[in-house]
This record gives sequence, structure tokens and C-alpha cells, in this order.
Amino acid sequence: MGLFRKLGKEVEQFKRTATEAAAEDGAYRCEACEAEFAAEYDQCPECGAETVVPTTVEE
Ligand SMILES: [Zn+2]
Repeated sequence: MGLFRKLGKEVEQFKRTATEAAAEDGAYRCEACEAEFAAEYDQCPECGAETVVPTTVEE
């Protein structure tokens, strides 16, 4: 019982760390398809929308 609880906590922590690392990699994000990029684009390479914004802007 206690072991499973500990394991779940570690997985949660890992997921949070992975998310933070991804956010640091993607300095820019497409608002249309939510793809993240290290560089800014006038048009999203993924979907072509002109909605690539810096991820540093908090919602
Ligand atoms: Zn896009």
C-alpha cells in the first residue's frame, strides 16, 4: 500500500519535471496547434497558422 503511494508520487514528480523541461525547450508556441519551437516563426511550420507566440507570456 505504502509502496504504491510512494511510486505514484515519484511518477507525478517525473511528469512535472518533464513538462518543465519541455517548456524551457519551447520558447515559442503555436496557439492553433500548441506545437512548441525553440525559434520564432511568422507561420507555424506544423499547421501554417500565424499564431506563434512566446511561451514566456503567461495566460
Ligand atoms: Zn500550429
